[in-house]
Amino acid sequence: MNEITAAIPRPNNLDAFWMPFSDNRYFKAHPRLLARAEGMSYYTPDGREILDGTAGLWCCNAGHGRREITEAIQRQAAVMDFAPTFQLGHPVAFEAAARVAEITPPGLDRVFFTNSGSESADTALKIALAYHKARGEGSRVRLIGRERGYHGVGFGGMSVGGIGPNRKQFGALLPYVDHLPHTHLPQRNAFSRGQPEHGAELADALEALVALHGAETIAAVMVEPVAGSTGVLVPPRGYLERLRAICDRHGILLIFDEVITGFGRLGANFGAERLGVTPDILTMAKGLTNAAVPMGAVAVKGAIYDAVVNGAPGGIELFHGYTYSGHPLAAAAAIATLELHRREDLPGRARAMEPYWQEAVHSLKGLPNVVDIRDFGLIGGIELAPRPGRPGARATEVFRRCFDAGVLVRVTGDIVALSPPLIVERHQVDRIVGTLGEAIRAEAA
Ligand code: PMP
Repeated sequence: MNEITAAIPRPNNLDAFWMPFSDNRYFKAHPRLLARAEGMSYYTPDGREILDGTAGLWCCNAGHGRREITEAIQRQAAVMDFAPTFQLGHPVAFEAAARVAEITPPGLDRVFFTNSGSESADTALKIALAYHKARGEGSRVRLIGRERGYHGVGFGGMSVGGIGPNRKQFGALLPYVDHLPHTHLPQRNAFSRGQPEHGAELADALEALVALHGAETIAAVMVEPVAGSTGVLVPPRGYLERLRAICDRHGILLIFDEVITGFGRLGANFGAERLGVTPDILTMAKGLTNAAVPMGAVAVKGAIYDAVVNGAPGGIELFHGYTYSGHPLAAAAAIATLELHRREDLPGRARAMEPYWQEAVHSLKGLPNVVDIRDFGLIGGIELAPRPGRPGARATEVFRRCFDAGVLVRVTGDIVALSPPLIVERHQVDRIVGTLGEAIRAEAA
């Protein structure tokens, strides 16, 4: 135990915290705690290193404990802890928005701040509805998501999202929501490297919904460029282009949820840039502040901002916002993070590492129970055959074995998802993938 971890009190009561998206009973019987983080690693309370194969939850792209960010937060806290942005402003929020707009895809230069990916999703959907209404097309109320899509846990994002267990516990969701089919075609695309070859035609399901309901009822389509939380589904070649063309043909807004694909994860500032398809609205969070302080944002095309703002008769234009929209500490963290992002060229680092990463991840092919491997940018997904009658149990066992061997991976169902900080080096890639391979072997033995 070193000096820093020794100073961290060990919790003696785990009862009060109702942990999110967790098996609370299992955790509280077998706690795995993280007490410190630096660079590529976490440390347990007794000082054991856990190499971070997931950038926290897809969010610490620049690695942990970056002084440039933590010091910016401390400086800002000393100057001004909080100020509202309703009918008032403070300089850091404006600067943070301008810095975000410097790296968003061309034309998406108006930025609304939130505190999370979930809030960004709901904000984007509400802006889409307000936009159509401002233009006299108030009949466009239908929102379209995709099976297996994840857009957080607010009622908007949960409804447009398409992950069954996240929806089924909560009764009635938003009305007027439809879903496109997901893009996972294991028979045709298993073990694809990068973008799979087959499935662009799945986008045509949007034409079918237009035929069914009429374009004049459809406000927006929201998709993740690469679906992450559902287990890494990389868009087939040509799919997003086709979705874009259908949206254009029918006046439907295209929203990209870039909460995990933003800020360099795919080897470009945003997935939109890497994939060559520009949405009308783009949501982000996580990497925006390197997760040091919660913050999300929604970037929209100037024409959308203009329609909503100029369409109002005067007074408040958009009846939406959060107490903490543009919070000074978060804004300061975002500015410092974007500075690091630029100076260290995090997208360039991810791009340079991608071939090595791809090779490493696909080296797990042939291990017991591995039925598919997917990758794009610095993301990897390793799908395991479920244990008969016990979905999720196999991957969970692999996760626990990896943790105990000093590597953090993430599981969703029976898929192991990898997304290391973008500063990862080759020997660390080897350790993450090597430890995962051993855990997969040991689980099967
Ligand atoms: N959208 C996507 C694509 C995500 O991956 C996530 C979180 N994993 C969210 C939204 C929700 O973000 P948050 O947990 O910050 O609300």
